[in-house]
Amino acid sequence: MDFISHGLWGSITFGRRNRSSFGLAFAVGMAPDLFSFGVLYIAAALGVSPKPDFSHGTPPESTIPQYVHQLYNYTHSFVVFLIAFVLVWLFLRRPVWELGAWGLHVLTDVPLHSYAFFPTPVLWPISNWKFDGWQWMTPGILIPNFVLLSLLYTWYIRHLYLASKKEKKRREAVFHRSSGI
Ligand SMILES: [Zn+2]
Repeated sequence: MDFISHGLWGSITFGRRNRSSFGLAFAVGMAPDLFSFGVLYIAAALGVSPKPDFSHGTPPESTIPQYVHQLYNYTHSFVVFLIAFVLVWLFLRRPVWELGAWGLHVLTDVPLHSYAFFPTPVLWPISNWKFDGWQWMTPGILIPNFVLLSLLYTWYIRHLYLASKKEKKRREAVFHRSSGI
């Protein structure tokens, strides 16, 4: 799935508490791709790594530098996510639920990547098992993804609008009562 969709899924699932929670879950949802392929694009822009060529679909994995494969193991492992989640919990003495967007990213990537290009190392480093799923770049996955996201966000924006309207009415009622109008 494209990284923006990952961000949007992360924030609607784990970031509905308030604005900063939304922003954090959005960033965390995108992070696994930004800290793997994002690094490659920055390196390519700086002329340090060759630019990956996606113009004819996914390029052969062997053309992607080894460090990207290694970063992909760390960022796309549910085991690494769980360890990080628990460590942050212990450190801050409270769970940071927005980090769940990372776990969700990994779990959604499992069925949406095939052996052809970066299957998800979901159990790494415990096991190298990977699922041979379906490529997310196909219209059969892209279109339902965008339709689902649009429906969910339409519901969410409407929900926020109705909640703020209710809050405004409540404040007005309190004001009228206290000012005796
Ligand atoms: Zn990913």
